[in-house]
Amino acid sequence: MNQGFNTRAIHAGQEPDPTTGAVVPPLYQTSTFAQDGIGKLRNGYEYGRGTNPTRDSLQTQLAALEGGAHAFSFSSGLAAEDALIRALLVPGDRIVMGNDVYGGTYRLINRVLAPWQIDSAAVDMADADAVAAAIADGNTKMVWVETPSNPMMKITDIAAIAELAHAAGAVLVVDNTFASPYLQTPLTLGADIVVHSTTKYIGGHSDASGGAVVLNDDAMAEKIGFIQFAVGAVSAPMEAWLTTRGLKTLGVRMDRHSENAQQIAEWLLARPEVERVLYPGLPDHPGHELAARQMTKFGGMISVQFKAAGQRSGEDVARAVAESTTVFTLAESLGGIESLMNYPSDMTHASVKGTELAVPENLVRLSVGIEDVADLIGDLEQALNRL
Ligand SMILES: *Cc1c(COP(=O)(O)O)cnc(C)c1O
Repeated sequence: MNQGFNTRAIHAGQEPDPTTGAVVPPLYQTSTFAQDGIGKLRNGYEYGRGTNPTRDSLQTQLAALEGGAHAFSFSSGLAAEDALIRALLVPGDRIVMGNDVYGGTYRLINRVLAPWQIDSAAVDMADADAVAAAIADGNTKMVWVETPSNPMMKITDIAAIAELAHAAGAVLVVDNTFASPYLQTPLTLGADIVVHSTTKYIGGHSDASGGAVVLNDDAMAEKIGFIQFAVGAVSAPMEAWLTTRGLKTLGVRMDRHSENAQQIAEWLLARPEVERVLYPGLPDHPGHELAARQMTKFGGMISVQFKAAGQRSGEDVARAVAESTTVFTLAESLGGIESLMNYPSDMTHASVKGTELAVPENLVRLSVGIEDVADLIGDLEQALNRL
């Protein structure tokens, strides 16, 4: 299919209902399917953990947008990651991951899978020698990259890491949650597998949790499909339906998220309270040129580090800002149409406090929504003026 992104987002897997012609495929809120005789299934549908038409429709849409042959949808991003790792690795295998991956990914690998003898190392993905050394050390079968990363906004060269992984016979997994397939398609850059927390930009409205795995390889897909069915952390029909609905507008949302975030990042840069703005759309961001090459726009996520002021440490200032906005809501998660403010050290990334992945304490993370940018800047301005 050679159609453009928005056409695929709106039409892939979304054929009108064959029975009634309903333009929007119905929500199949059912756990089981009638059989026309023992084992005589209608179109293969048998039991909800195995297959459901609403989930199939989301999976077709996801595969079309990431440019993959297969997509699997799960009840959360971490459920997707767990299914993927358990499908492809066995005890004694090693994962080399970026040293700034999502805290929950690090926790899954180090606290849930390590006791089952999955070995791992965290490295700086910008340091090719360190990545090659970490891959060579042990039985590395999987390399895990997140770009842009959460919340440090580091950019990793997907094509370069794919070469290093493949040279060692390992697969490259890219967590594409921050960019979304509208801004970046890792499979076209050499990655083998894409994972998502669809809870974020793909769903886009903060009303449904979910995760996804997208890939081309048939043999690996069969193993992942088996774990999805045999373990059962599948998306519920309602969540799949909401996610499909959200995904149709991903393109227009990402355009606005990116425009708003660029303006806010530039505005923050000029403020005396600010020590550093981490946004790949700023020319002085260390990953700016790489991001301009491998992404179509820079996205809606910004991290900001604050200076100490008078008696107050940078941490105190960051905490005060996080607690004094009114349009930005203080909450975990990201990628919805509404702007959110997060203090990662105690919120989203509390699970990596004290580890090599700890987040600076003077940092707040903004998920810039699609409200009017003047209102968002006005909100940040009143919060800074109150310091
Ligand atoms: C939120 C998130 C996850 C985990 O997804 P859940 O849906 O919360 O399980 C994984 N990776 C990144 C980058 C995330 O932001």
